[in-house]
Amino acid sequence: MNKFETLGLGEAILKAVNEMGFETPSEVQEKAIPILLNEDTDIVALAQTGTGKTAAFGFPLIEKVDASSKITQGLIIAPTRELCLQITNELKNYSKFIPSLHTVAVYGGASITDQAKQIKRGAQIIVATPGRMQDMINRKLVNISSLKYCVLDEADEMLNMGFYEDINAILSHTPEEKSTWLFSATMPREVATIAKRFMKNPVEITVGHKNTGTKNVSHEYYVVNSRDRYSALKRLADANPDIFSVIFCRTKRDTQKVAENLIEDGYNAAALHGDLSQNQRDLVMKSFRNRQIQMLVATDVAARGIDVNDITHVINYQLPDEIETYTHRSGRTGRAGKVGVSMVIVSKSEVRKIKSVERIIKQEFEKKNIPSGEEICQVQLFHLANDIGKAEINDDIENYLPAINEVLESFSKEELIKKFFSVEFSRFHNYYKKSKDLNSPSDGRSDSYDNNGNSTRYFINIGEKDGYDWMSLKDLLKDALDLGRDDVNRVDIKDSFSFFNTDASHQEKVLEIFEDFRIEGRKINVEVSKDSGRRKGGRRDQKGGFKGKRRSDGFKPKDGKRSSYKGREDRGGSGGGGGRRDRKRRSDR
Ligand code: AMP
Repeated sequence: MNKFETLGLGEAILKAVNEMGFETPSEVQEKAIPILLNEDTDIVALAQTGTGKTAAFGFPLIEKVDASSKITQGLIIAPTRELCLQITNELKNYSKFIPSLHTVAVYGGASITDQAKQIKRGAQIIVATPGRMQDMINRKLVNISSLKYCVLDEADEMLNMGFYEDINAILSHTPEEKSTWLFSATMPREVATIAKRFMKNPVEITVGHKNTGTKNVSHEYYVVNSRDRYSALKRLADANPDIFSVIFCRTKRDTQKVAENLIEDGYNAAALHGDLSQNQRDLVMKSFRNRQIQMLVATDVAARGIDVNDITHVINYQLPDEIETYTHRSGRTGRAGKVGVSMVIVSKSEVRKIKSVERIIKQEFEKKNIPSGEEICQVQLFHLANDIGKAEINDDIENYLPAINEVLESFSKEELIKKFFSVEFSRFHNYYKKSKDLNSPSDGRSDSYDNNGNSTRYFINIGEKDGYDWMSLKDLLKDALDLGRDDVNRVDIKDSFSFFNTDASHQEKVLEIFEDFRIEGRKINVEVSKDSGRRKGGRRDQKGGFKGKRRSDGFKPKDGKRSSYKGREDRGGSGGGGGRRDRKRRSDR
């Protein structure tokens, strides 16, 4: 016996369940379906996307509405058009064997007249986005005065997106006597307020931490200097050649900018945010679904409801303002039984927020290092070798072989392999060979400095005893040295002395300024720190010319501002992660 039969579902749905291949009810289904079928109650269910929540409210709703009447009895409100369409499709599948039951989707960006026509023909269930639903109510194109069931799906998202007023207005057109079913991934205060205001003694169920959706997601964080965020993003992408990802930024502006930079650097990327027209957004989503876009840079609002199943990585370019939103971001990956990785790029000052996120997701983060240039080169090289190994031979090449053989006949197999790989690989190698370590060592683990020759560490003979903490010492140093805030880092304050770092290119200037530097008459002594061989690294920098090194990752050191990517030099001559641009061109052909 299929376990769904024990939940009290009717023949038609069980047949559909069978056809869809659902074998075991998910936790939220097991908990919610019997309650909703047997009682006329309100419910608050804490469940995320991917837990099977659509069926948890969809099955009972389909069972309960009277399919022989054409009156609209069920309304599901969802935050986005994508989710709205997704729910509608699911419901149509569930009710496949109830031919008289009609579910109509109501959402912006499509003809309102067509939607009104469909409703007029009879729609027992409407699935709507808040804005368009309001619009239809105002134009009297829909009548929900006999509504019996109202589902608020992803309630937290809807409130995040500022739909409170719309929901309020829509609900005011529904009868008092109805059941309200609220589904939400999290329970922020606003959702609790809605529950209190519009619901009567709701039954509460939670499936939070047993959610298989999130179990499939591992969480990682990377600590970098703020100005290295973009370089770090590129490295994460380059270290994962088959990446298919959503990158979250906090603002529309950042979203646009990061996407533009990635495109300019040769990645298959695009932006998705609210300033794009519906048409533009549809095009972006279409390209993303078709895998023409590997890196979709999105705002939280625009990315809501993205129902693409194979996303390998979610990258938090910045953490969200509302920490709760992290759940929605990471939920974009690890769907439908797949595994996924959610990565967070943080600056040192944000590391503490990781703890808050861990509390919310009830999972631990792994602290990882941004891969070095060498690691990336290795990954790319082996990826290339694998690709070549797997490539299907195109027989049309046959005709050209004699001529090609003639060109290459003097080389041995080993030489040919080396040459072939060099053609493909030199870009990456040239780009990364002088790349610096992007990991910010000042993330609370003061002993883990990498001495990669890029940065010089200094000793200074003032410390806590002199009334400084790390922030005030950093201020003193940046003022004395006339450097930016980010140029003085890893300030490690001890009792009577301290350590700090600057880019190796500043070493000469630092030593010069502190040659004769006094505070209230006291001579301040600064030396290149001798521990862990840093001195050697620093000296070598002077001769070896690490100057302008930061540029290798696409940043100009001047003013600390990002370069406008004019000219190949600024991009390290490779279009940021050399192979990608080529690969793109190849696939465009
Ligand atoms: P949802 O959380 O409603 O977005 O559902 C996530 C996906 O899981 C959808 O593609 C559903 O069709 C599928 N699904 C829902 N319930 C089950 C189940 N009991 N067994 C297998 N797949 C399911």
